[in-house]
Amino acid sequence: MNFGGYGVIMNIEKAIVALKYNGYSVMLFKTVEEAAKYLDSSINDESVGFGDSDTLLHMNMFQRLSSHNRVVDPAHCVLGKTFKDTALECLTTNIFLTSVNAMSETGELVNIDGTGNRIAGSLFGHQKVYFVVGTNKLTPTLEEAIWRARNIAAPRNAMRLGLRTPCAIKGDRCYNCSSPDRICNSIITYYKKMSGMDMEIVIINEELGF
Ligand code: SF4
Repeated sequence: MNFGGYGVIMNIEKAIVALKYNGYSVMLFKTVEEAAKYLDSSINDESVGFGDSDTLLHMNMFQRLSSHNRVVDPAHCVLGKTFKDTALECLTTNIFLTSVNAMSETGELVNIDGTGNRIAGSLFGHQKVYFVVGTNKLTPTLEEAIWRARNIAAPRNAMRLGLRTPCAIKGDRCYNCSSPDRICNSIITYYKKMSGMDMEIVIINEELGF
């Protein structure tokens, strides 16, 4: 099965084989609704933390999972708790959900982070991490995944957040800025599944997030 995007034809089956070889469990869904139902039925009576993710916001996963799990999400801070309080709590949950900024057909994932809560939560401390990823984030190679994260995902996120960065103002690419609003302070490549915890990639054949 091939999916269009990124200016070339992507091969999702090649990516799934490579991701499984790299130690991940992988599920593929045609729609957001199917993927959301799957996550909702898979995660029950757990403590769940979120990394910043426009994809998960779009899927209403906080609302869905909150009805039968204890969920903490920096995008939904409870009264009296700051972003930092909530993000810290997310680091110690059994389950952690986030997305990635790019995923290569060769089986690598790439994430950029400004505060580090998303990257930190995805690397250590949980029983299981889920990466929920739209096929718009698929690239042929790791090099193109890193390029995508820097020049497509980060600028679009900066625009969404209304930041005063050159990428958000011009809307075309990364300028490797020194802006106080810079959101690209760290970039991580996941070459393979981290040791000591389960990691599952939920791929959705829709355009989701940045
Ligand atoms: S480094 Fe600066 S210009 Fe580049 S994407 Fe990040 S915020 Fe935008």
